[in-house]
Amino acid sequence: MPSTQDGLTWNRHLTGLRCIHCGHLHQVGPLTAGCPRCRTREFVANLWLEYDLASLRHGLQRTTFTDRRAGLAAYNPLLPVEDASGELSLAEGNTPLLPAPYLRRAFSQVWLKDETRNPTFSYKDRLCYTAVSAGALLGRRVACVASSGNHGAATAAYARRAGMECVVIGTGTPLPVMAAQMRAYGAKLVRAEDTERWRVLRRCVEEYGWWPTGNYTWPLASGNPFGPEGYKTIAYEVWRDLGERVPDVVLVPVARGEGLAGVWKGFLELAELGLADRLPRMVGVEPEAGGPLARAWRAGRELTGMEMLTPGRTVAVSIGGGVSSTQALLTVRDSGGHALTVSDEEILAARARLAEEGLLVEAAAATAVAGLSRLEREVPALAAGVAAVVLTGSGLKDAIPLAVDFEPESVPVVTADDFARTFRDRFGVDPSELGVG
Ligand SMILES: *Cc1c(COP(=O)(O)O)cnc(C)c1O
Ligand SMILES: [Zn+2]
Repeated sequence: MPSTQDGLTWNRHLTGLRCIHCGHLHQVGPLTAGCPRCRTREFVANLWLEYDLASLRHGLQRTTFTDRRAGLAAYNPLLPVEDASGELSLAEGNTPLLPAPYLRRAFSQVWLKDETRNPTFSYKDRLCYTAVSAGALLGRRVACVASSGNHGAATAAYARRAGMECVVIGTGTPLPVMAAQMRAYGAKLVRAEDTERWRVLRRCVEEYGWWPTGNYTWPLASGNPFGPEGYKTIAYEVWRDLGERVPDVVLVPVARGEGLAGVWKGFLELAELGLADRLPRMVGVEPEAGGPLARAWRAGRELTGMEMLTPGRTVAVSIGGGVSSTQALLTVRDSGGHALTVSDEEILAARARLAEEGLLVEAAAATAVAGLSRLEREVPALAAGVAAVVLTGSGLKDAIPLAVDFEPESVPVVTADDFARTFRDRFGVDPSELGVG
C-alpha cells in the first residue's frame, strides 16, 4: 500500500476553485460544501477547479490522451493531483466506446461508453480516483460518503488504495451485492434516516475531519469539487475514440449531476486547449419518480431556484434521489441541452434491449439509453447526428442477488446524536480515533 502524501502534489497549473454562480476564485483547499460566499439555507453553488490552460497547453503531450496503460493517472497533467507513481489508481477508465446501430433511430450514430468495466463496476471510480487523491494529499485519514451503493463501493476501494479508512452512511437496507462489496474493501457501514444522514455526515466532516468524497450539504448538493475532475476524462476518451471528434449529443443518467457536469467540463477543456472545435449538447436523464433537474429545467428555473423533491420508488436505485445540483442545471443550460425523465417501464425495456446485445447494465445506466427515444419525441431537433450515451454501472450490482455471508439488516442505524456511541459499540473504536495512529 502506498503511503499517503508521498509523491502527491497539486497540479502546478491549478489556479483555484471557481464558483459557478458568483465567479469568485477560491484558493485550492478542502472546500467541500460549495461556495462559502454564495451559500444560504436553500442554495449551494458548486465550485469548479480551474487551471491555467493557456500555459498548460504548451507542455501538453498528445500521449496524455493515448496512454492506455495507467488508468486516470495518465491524465495527471489535466487533473488536480499529480500522482506521479500512479499508485492511487486501480487502472480505472479507458473503457470501450461501443457502436450501437440497434439504437440509432433518428441519430446517424449511437455510441455507448461502457463504464461497467471499471474496477468497482461503475463510473464512480473516476470520481473517487480524483476525490480520494485530493483527500490523501491533504493528509486526511478517513474517507466518508453518503451512499447506498456505487459511490460507497468506489470510495471504499480507493480509500483503501490510499491507506485511508472508509465509513459509508446509507439509508434503508442496502442492496446485498453493493453492501458486500463495500465490506470486502474494508468499509465500515452505518445507516440513518434520509435527512438525519446529512447531519451525521456533517458531524463526521466538521468534527472528525473526515474527507467526504460526495455531498454532505442539505437541501442542495455541493459534492466534492475534486470528483467531477475524474468524470471529465470520459469526455477526453469519447473525443479520442471518435477520432478526435466531439459528438452532437451526450446523454448521462443523473442523480446529483456530478457526472453530467464533469463530462461537460471535459469537453469545455478540450475546446479551450484547442483540441476540439465544438461542444456537445448535454442531456441529463432521470427516472420520473423524482426528476429534480428535469423539473427545474422545464420550469425555466434560475440556478438559485433548484428545489428538492420527495422522490417515489424507481427501479433505477442508483439515481432515485430528489436532489440535484446547481452545476447540473448550469450544464444543461450552457450546453443548449435538455433534461428529461423516463418511466420505469422504459428503463427496464432499455435494459432488456442492451442485454440482448450482450451488455448487462444497471437500471440507472439503462435510464440514459431510454432517454434516446424520449429525446426524439420531446425535442426532435436534438435527436440527430452522433450521440454518445454513458453506461454508468454494471447490471450485476442491482440485478442478481449473490449468496454472500453478510446480513444487510445488521448495519447499525444512527442519528447525529448517538452516532459516536453506536459507532463505538459496533466497531470497537471511537470515530474520533478512526484512522489515527
Ligand atoms: C451515481 C450514479 C449515477 C449518477 O451520478 P450523479 O453524478 O450523481 O448524477 C448514475 N448511474 C450510476 C450507476 C451511478 O452510480
Ligand atoms: Zn459563489
